[in-house]
Amino acid sequence: MSPLALPHRARTFLRAPARWSVVAAIPIVALLPLVLTDYQVTLADNIGIAALVTLGLVLLTGVGGMTSFGQAAFVGIGAYSAAVMATFQPADLPFGLSFFAGSPIAGLVLGLVITLSVAGILGAITLRLSGHYLPLGTIAWGLSLYYLFGTIEAFGGHTGISGIPALSLFGITLDRGEELFRLIWGVVIVAVIVTLNLLDSRPGRAIRALRGGQIMAESMGVDTFRAKMTAFLTAAVFASIAGWLYAHTQRFVAPAPFSLQAGIDYMFMALIGGVGQVWGAVVGAATVVMLKEWLQDLLPHLLGRVGNFEQIVFGLLIVVVMREMSSGLTGRLVEAVRARLPRVSIAPAGADLAAVEPLPRCPMPPRGTTILEARGVTRRFGGLVANDDLSFSVAAGEILAVIGPNGAGKSTLFNQLSCVDAPTSGEIVFRDRRIDGLPSREVAKDGLARTFQHVKLLPTMSALENVALGAHLRGSDGIAAAMLRLDRAEEASLLAEAERQLTRVGLGEYAAAEAGSLALGQQRILEIARALASDPCLLLLDEPAAGLRFREKEALAELLGRLRAEGMAIVLVEHDMDFVMELADRVLVVDFGRQIAEGLPAEIQSNPAVLEAYLGGVE
Ligand code: ADP
Ligand code: MG
Repeated sequence: MSPLALPHRARTFLRAPARWSVVAAIPIVALLPLVLTDYQVTLADNIGIAALVTLGLVLLTGVGGMTSFGQAAFVGIGAYSAAVMATFQPADLPFGLSFFAGSPIAGLVLGLVITLSVAGILGAITLRLSGHYLPLGTIAWGLSLYYLFGTIEAFGGHTGISGIPALSLFGITLDRGEELFRLIWGVVIVAVIVTLNLLDSRPGRAIRALRGGQIMAESMGVDTFRAKMTAFLTAAVFASIAGWLYAHTQRFVAPAPFSLQAGIDYMFMALIGGVGQVWGAVVGAATVVMLKEWLQDLLPHLLGRVGNFEQIVFGLLIVVVMREMSSGLTGRLVEAVRARLPRVSIAPAGADLAAVEPLPRCPMPPRGTTILEARGVTRRFGGLVANDDLSFSVAAGEILAVIGPNGAGKSTLFNQLSCVDAPTSGEIVFRDRRIDGLPSREVAKDGLARTFQHVKLLPTMSALENVALGAHLRGSDGIAAAMLRLDRAEEASLLAEAERQLTRVGLGEYAAAEAGSLALGQQRILEIARALASDPCLLLLDEPAAGLRFREKEALAELLGRLRAEGMAIVLVEHDMDFVMELADRVLVVDFGRQIAEGLPAEIQSNPAVLEAYLGGVE
């Protein structure tokens, strides 16, 4: 039976309940205005608008790991574009464009165009920043744009723009609270659907992979800058649309709601909702908006005075909640809820994985051709020479073992071979092309795949999805296709390939398990499956057998033997000498960064220099 035909738990998936929650949300949105008071409807409108901004932050911060305090500025761009366009008279615009004056759709489009341009420039500058520089950068632009809104004369300074006419779309005027409610929440639901679709797709996996570290993601072929930009622009677009809705709901805009403080509030909403939870955006927005309302009503009663006390109390609450968050309270709550949700199949209705189009494969280079060659590779870290003039080659259908004591420089060598790091001097040639200094995703494209000594998996993602990330370069559907779910055929092929590789390494039954829940030895094997999913011709394995039990080692040796028979070239670092000597065709021994011996396993075992390095030898 083909592995693809296995009826598999792989098709169960944790996020599936979220999809059903969308279906449940639709009648709620349709019916709620009938039972809510006017005041409550207005409050719900504000919550919906805030939820849309927060949803962008869930994607950006919760999923992608990028912190932004500047989202309110994008809301401002959307709101001011809407306000300006809506209050234009035909005579205000040049001939030919006068048709657009007063058009809310034109306001929306204008807002999106400006938002994308501004976010594109800001993203290009700030997304390459690491650590604290990114949030600081977002604060800087948040402040600049806020002051810009107050400075531009046409925007009415700090008094703002009033007299925005009621929203009129396709001949229907939406001027009642309940109509706006349905529009706003309709947009929120669409945004939730689009976000869920994105997360459950190839470009979405790339964004989620950012959490696993840039090195891992790039080694899987992910263009991390592009993945960051995708999340950043999506979040900016959500914020801009929220601004458009805001302008047409309030019928008045002034700079205050787009200040840095608002940006911090949005971040707080994302935190409360449990960053990373799509519906958490709604929960967080509702909590914060209602809490602020409530504090505004309550505090003057308690304190007997009017003032901005709610801001002070709110600030203190933030501190308390942050403390709770860091102890993982929200995370545990979310987990508890998740554990109770039923798992539902994500396979497209009626889809049969056996009928899925298999991904095309690259032909293996003919056995015996040199795949990889290192020429005088040297890597210095300050005064330390971690690799000292290493030269060797590997051919298709060959297993080369690199052995040596801890700290000998083996992992450093692997990093250079896979272009995670570049040699200080020397050359590396992979498939007749010099690769040292290239980005690692470039060599991944050419068929080099690796695993890491310190496992780099996405622990909360399923084993299947982790492996599918390895097949990233074998798909091409982008963000638009993903959001509109036009990527299902390709996605099915990618998941089927991931499933095939999982089965191949013997982890088929764990497809739906979270990667972090597997034993460490299994996680190493999972990394091999992920590497294999890229259809490589060269595999670099850094201590793949560490932590494996005897039977698991046997299975691994058998798998590597099969891969070699298929013509794959394998370089592996391993400390288990029985494993190495039985499996490897040739062995390279390094000590203190230098190559002290190279040859057949039998030669190495009796080499005096090697025995010396191992203080008494390998026996
Ligand atoms: P091995 O994998 O053989 O155990 P490594 O390649 O990890 O050894 O390390 C070789 C030497 O290089 C060690 O002394 C280690 O401390 C040093 N080293 C590795 N990476 C770095 C780095 N990024 N900066 C400074 N020193 C490093
Ligand atoms: Mg190492």
